[in-house]
Amino acid sequence: MTATGATWRNWARTESVRPLRVERPATSGAVQRAVAAAAASGLRIKAVGAGHSFTGIAVAPGVQLDLADLSGIVDADIATGRVTLGAGTRLHELPALLAPYGLALPNMGDIDRQTIAGATSTGTHGTGLGFGGLATQIVAAKLVSGTGELIAVSESERPELLPAVRLGLGALGVLVEVTLQLVPRFVLHAVEKPAPLGEVLDGWPELVRASDHFEFYWFPHTEAALTKTNTRLPGDAPRRPLGRVSRWVDDELLANGLYRGVCAVGRIAPGVVPAFARQVEKLTGDRDFADFSPKVFVTNRTVRFREMEYAVPLAAVPDAVREVRSLIERKGWRISFPIEVRAAASDDNWLSTAYGRDSGYLAVHRYFREDPAEYFTAVEAIMREHGGRPHWGKMHTRDAASLREVYPRFDDFVRVRNELDPERRFGNPYLERVLGA
Ligand SMILES: Cc1cc2nc3c(=O)[nH]c(=O)nc-3n(C[C@H](O)[C@H](O)[C@H](O)COP(=O)(O)OP(=O)(O)OC[C@H]3O[C@@H](n4cnc5c(N)ncnc54)[C@H](O)[C@@H]3O)c2cc1C
Repeated sequence: MTATGATWRNWARTESVRPLRVERPATSGAVQRAVAAAAASGLRIKAVGAGHSFTGIAVAPGVQLDLADLSGIVDADIATGRVTLGAGTRLHELPALLAPYGLALPNMGDIDRQTIAGATSTGTHGTGLGFGGLATQIVAAKLVSGTGELIAVSESERPELLPAVRLGLGALGVLVEVTLQLVPRFVLHAVEKPAPLGEVLDGWPELVRASDHFEFYWFPHTEAALTKTNTRLPGDAPRRPLGRVSRWVDDELLANGLYRGVCAVGRIAPGVVPAFARQVEKLTGDRDFADFSPKVFVTNRTVRFREMEYAVPLAAVPDAVREVRSLIERKGWRISFPIEVRAAASDDNWLSTAYGRDSGYLAVHRYFREDPAEYFTAVEAIMREHGGRPHWGKMHTRDAASLREVYPRFDDFVRVRNELDPERRFGNPYLERVLGA
């Protein structure tokens, strides 16, 4: 299907573009034809996922490929737990798709709106020191290169490409299928409770090591951190789901509805923000429930915001948080969104933010109608001091020269890019900035 492009906007409303045309291929052959046709008319072409990146990584001024028709299960093997998915499959479709096989993703981030190809291509991650980001689950993939070739990559076919292709920023080709190593469906026991920030920072190394999935939110202008500790249980463990009212009160009213109000008011009268933060501190936390993993990992985010997230060496987290805290105090900013702190295992994907090191993640947010530049730039300077690597799908100002310094295999990635996309058919201004022309 081909259509002239309507204006495309990303979720955070930081990017928009009117593609020359939009195509909706339903087979890998159709993707190959689309790439060949773009090449013949000298156009750039790019697959877009769910548009949930905050950066311009998915912007496609030439031909935009919508892979909604390349979705669902292509193949599944219960014995090995390996499942091949169409690249356009949305994460929120997975629980129903995988139910007949009794399988699940081993870990997830905060939301499930993304496509599997979009999420893995930018290094999307959850929390848990025993778990890598979503891209680490990819054991095989099929992609159409910039020259229109369909390339299979797996442990037995061009395995040397896997560390690049698993997390390729959309710069190496159009993924049409990915094969994931999944795990048997499991239940998570969630304990959410507030704790003093100082205690959480002092205990950080033990807290992340002692639990399967630990994270915390710190509310600026308060002493409070909301800790979330999820423990993995077998799939047949008793479940105690959150009641609908409790889920609504916590997720909708606190995490979304109340924020929406305070963010809007905070723009006009920033002075209310600290009082609000203290109110949230009082209201949030103390939940104890158990449910299937996607229902625990995933929350609902209806308040639009902008985000920057940096990965730093795991041990640097307490200092980095303290430095952000003194920055906010020193500047007198009123920050209505909490700072989210997570962890992930070291992995070997060349452009993974956790490449070669166990990592802690600090994410800062700003309401989408507020200008985040001053806050994010100052926090970014702190993260750089700690050898930080920015999330590829979240806002940052780094360029290829500075990213090369923090990614030891950066030039290997560029070499693969030169091979798979010599003419930069998949290029756009963001990729030019972060990878070079
Ligand atoms: C509310 C919200 C919450 C979030 N929570 C988290 C979180 O908890 N953890 C985390 O790490 N991140 C999180 N993110 C970031 C998000 O996971 C990433 O930005 C992700 O890339 C978005 O996936 P998408 O499908 O929307 O991809 P898009 O943003 O549409 O595209 C991302 C990249 O993938 C490429 N791409 C898409 N499809 C293909 C394909 N078939 N072949 C090749 N390349 C392709 C695009 O070209 C682009 O380069 C969050 C974002 C939002 C808005």
